[in-house]
Amino acid sequence: MGSPYLVPVAALMRDVPSVRRVAFEAPFDEPHEFAPRGPAETDVFPEALVQVEVALQSFVGGLRAHGRVEAPWHGICRRCSAPVLGRSIVAVDERFVERREAGDEETYLIEGDVVDLAPLAHDAILLDLPLAPLCREDCRGLCPQCGIDRNEATCDCSAPRDPRWATLDGLRFADPG
Ligand SMILES: [Zn+2]
Ligand SMILES: [Zn+2]
Repeated sequence: MGSPYLVPVAALMRDVPSVRRVAFEAPFDEPHEFAPRGPAETDVFPEALVQVEVALQSFVGGLRAHGRVEAPWHGICRRCSAPVLGRSIVAVDERFVERREAGDEETYLIEGDVVDLAPLAHDAILLDLPLAPLCREDCRGLCPQCGIDRNEATCDCSAPRDPRWATLDGLRFADPG
């Protein structure tokens, strides 16, 4: 069985304009062809189920794909380093063309009467991933002095100083009097 991302479009291209709706749920990176960007970064697990719902609408020489892509992502909270899980829901509106003309760099190619929706889903989701997620809006982070997770416990460290005072402190200590 072929990947649901590979959609035959010969009939759509013969009969312009026509529309075909495509909806499925499948990992977009089961063959792991998209390199992971690094363990600390927000990313989608290769085996995670991605939901794709698009209408493919033919025009002369190409297809418009518009609809929605959804994927679960995982990341690290920027304040407390806890694992964070979230979900990206992205509206897509892209074009597939049989031949790229000048100015068509933003398009995907129809190859052998088939469109591959995996790169489209991948690009849409990756652009939407939060770069520095929070485990929750009011995450209190880790104490910069003792490292305790301030969401779970309190410590006796003094409140973090306002960095603007650091220079003044330095001046006072430098004063020999
Ligand atoms: Zn957090
Ligand atoms: Zn502390």
